[in-house]
Parts: sequence; structure tokens; C-alpha cells
Amino acid sequence: MKYVSTRDNSKEFSFSQVFLKGLADDGGLFIPKSIKKFDKKKLNLLSKLNYKELASEIIYSFTGDFIAKNNLKKIVDKSYSVFREKNVVNLIQVGDRKILELFHGPTLAFKDIAMQLLGNFYEYYLNKKKDNINIVVATSGDTGAAAIEAIKGKKGINIFVLHPNNRISLVQRKLMTTIKENNVFNIAVKGNFDDCQNLVKLMFADKLFSNSIKMSGVNSINWARIIAQSVYYFYAYFLINNDKHPVNFSVPTGNFGNVYAGYLAKKMGLPINKLIVATNQNDILHRAILNGIYELGQAVETISPSMDIQVASNFERLIYDLNDRDDKRTLLIMKKIKDKGQYNIEKNKLNKIKLNFDSYSMNQKQIIKTIKLVYNKYKIVLDPHSAIGYGAFDSVKLKGNNVVLATAHPCKFPDAVKLAIKKKQKLPHSLKHIMTERENYEILPNNLQYIQSYIKNKIQ
Ligand SMILES: *Cc1c(COP(=O)(O)O)cnc(C)c1O
Repeated sequence: MKYVSTRDNSKEFSFSQVFLKGLADDGGLFIPKSIKKFDKKKLNLLSKLNYKELASEIIYSFTGDFIAKNNLKKIVDKSYSVFREKNVVNLIQVGDRKILELFHGPTLAFKDIAMQLLGNFYEYYLNKKKDNINIVVATSGDTGAAAIEAIKGKKGINIFVLHPNNRISLVQRKLMTTIKENNVFNIAVKGNFDDCQNLVKLMFADKLFSNSIKMSGVNSINWARIIAQSVYYFYAYFLINNDKHPVNFSVPTGNFGNVYAGYLAKKMGLPINKLIVATNQNDILHRAILNGIYELGQAVETISPSMDIQVASNFERLIYDLNDRDDKRTLLIMKKIKDKGQYNIEKNKLNKIKLNFDSYSMNQKQIIKTIKLVYNKYKIVLDPHSAIGYGAFDSVKLKGNNVVLATAHPCKFPDAVKLAIKKKQKLPHSLKHIMTERENYEILPNNLQYIQSYIKNKIQ
């Protein structure tokens, strides 16, 4: 399995280069040279596996000579043994749709599913190479906690997490800042998530800096995260595919990561019908799919903070695909987006998008209404992100099996949930202690040099 960059596909990369680097040196995203499609027979075999077995099979088809299959199996087992569900996820019926709960990991959001695996990949690789690295990552709230949980205490790795100061929920912050291991560093940036993401991108681009600290990234463009996330689309599909009706997924998204993983599953041969891109008021993806105009706006703060994003980084992978894997064209389009803040998607390409995707955007009032409605009717509490996914099916009418991806546990966003159902969400017993423990984080200005020297000082 070889990989290329979306902006220059003349050079080839191995899986370990792809997962360690995250982003290509030319600013592009890594993507497999070609994607192997499972045939009907193989899909049938996969459908009989439990979650861990299925994950090993799917992930192994992307890792090349990075790891032997029996070692991968051990890593997958270890990664998913920390989940509260034996099969990692849980599929429940709620009214006329199904909810795929992805939040049974240690930090209560779907990001644990990919991040636990990544943490163990790092450990495996660094142990073999006797090397060390520094991870720098931006978070809109959930990535940071999942990454810290996966990396804390591991040998040869430090992790620096940049979050937007005062723009994540209290529980989100405490999950990150109460971790005591001395390889964990939290930075609250005076800015929004896009500022944090931009700082990390600039640090990567500064070769002198990134090479000197052996910088590595785990944000949602990391290919290893995408493949780990594609697994639950297969798993859920196989659980319900005893009838002949189409299967649709509604995916709360901001960075186009989770929903792209669904698209990848489809490209691997899983016969998914439609993927709904469900956004909050930061609706750049909804506008792009509706009108063909991908236009950057100002990020606004919402009660679904993990999706308060305007630059949907993973969208570049779809752009590359739509342009028939033309790297020069992709580079041109990405430059246009950067310079002009806009990309007009050609009609024939928009039609291709609409074959696979639908979209939807929900405002605050509707989110609260949806949480309330679902609770009153079914006694199920949705978090504000999952509520957007749920509500999308009321607007985008699709026949067949409609599956909502529930991306976070409601107790992670108690204030938003309380607005809707006047009830306080309790943390699971194992996490109660974070509310009273001492927090550790530094509030720093939105300034590249400042943050670079902070990081350099810490790793001296
Ligand atoms: C990160 C996150 C999302 C969005 O994920 P993408 O990678 O942007 O698709 C949605 N919901 C929750 C709870 C998240 O943490």
C-alpha cells in the first residue's frame, strides 16, 4: 500500500510516513494511491466478524509493511479493551431511525475510537525505532482529550494540545487539564479553533522548527484516524443489513473527517446509500453541497463547539477525488480557497457530490428543540452534536434504514442539555473526580513565535 499527497502525487509514501507526518510537506493530505475494493464474497466474510476482528481486517488493508497482522490484532485488542462496550459501539432503535453510539470510550466522544489506536501505533513504532517525537495538535474540544488519554505516560512522546480559550465546555477542558502525566501540555490559545488549527499548520510548515522537535500530528486529517473511523460504518451496516433496504448515515461534522470515513467505506465497496453532512451554523459544507459554493465565513460560537469550524480540512480529499486525482488541479483549487476564500464547484462535480452526499445545517433553537423532543418521546438524551445528526433526517427525507452517528455522550455538554430538558447530566462514576481536581494549562496569545518558544522550553 503506497500513499501520495493530494497536491503532488509524483512521490510515494509508506503508511508509517503517512501516520507520523499527518500532513504532507507540500501542505497536501495523504491518500492511498489506489483503494482496494472488497467484493461481495469478502464483504460477506467481514459481516460475520466482531468489532475488533473487523477493525483488524479493514485497517490491515491500509498499513502495508508497517506491522504484521498478528501484532496489529494485539494493538487493536489493546486499544478497544478500554471501551465500556465489548463491541466498542452500540446501535439502538429510536423511533423511525437508528442511533449508532460512538461515545463509549474513555473521553466520551467518537474520537477515542481512532485515537486509542493511534496512541498504540506510536508506541509500537517508537519502541521499534528507539526514537522520540513531539505531538502538537489543535482541538475544538474532543480531539485533545482523546489524544491526551491515548498518549499520556507513553515513552518517547510528549503531547502539546492547543485549545481555544473559553470556547470549549468545562467538561471538555477538565478532561484534558486534569491529566497529571508529565508528557502532557495544555495550551489555551486566545482565539478560536481555526486560529489553533492555523498555528499548528504554520508550525508544521516551519521546517526548521518542526524538524528540530520531531513534530508529529494527530488531527483529523491523519489518515490513520480516517481508516479507524471507517470501521464502524461497516460494523453498523452489517448489523442492519438483513433486509434489502438502503442504509443512510447522518454524520455531525465540521472538519469533514467522520463523514469522509463513511465515503471511504463506500469506496471500499460497502453499499452505503447516502451520507448526510450535518453541520451547525458553521455551515460551509452545507452551503457547498447545496449551492456548489465553498466559501469561508467567520466561525461562530455555538452549543455544539466541536463543530465550530470554517475550514473543513478533509474536504481536500474529496476535491482530489472529484477532480479525478489530478494533483495540479487540486493544488490550484486549494490556492484559490486560501487566496480568495472561495471555490465554485463545477456543475458536473457538484452532481457527483450529490450522488453520495446530502447536507443539512441546524441552529441553536432547533438543536434544543430536537434534544427536548427526543427525550420526551423516547427518554433518550442526545448531546447537541448528535441532535444535529438526528434532526437532519427530518429535513432530508430518505427511504430505508436511517442511522444517526451519535458522536458524544450528553454529559460532555451538560449546559446545552440542561437548556433543553432541565436536567443535569451526570458524568460516569469513573470520571467524577475531574470536576474537583487541579487543572494544568497555560493561557497563551495567538502568536506563532510565542507558542513555538513555549514548546521548545518544555522539551529542553
Ligand atoms: C470532532 C467532533 C465532530 C466532528 O468531527 P469531524 O472530524 O469534523 O467530522 C462531531 N461531533 C463531536 C462530538 C466531535 O467531537
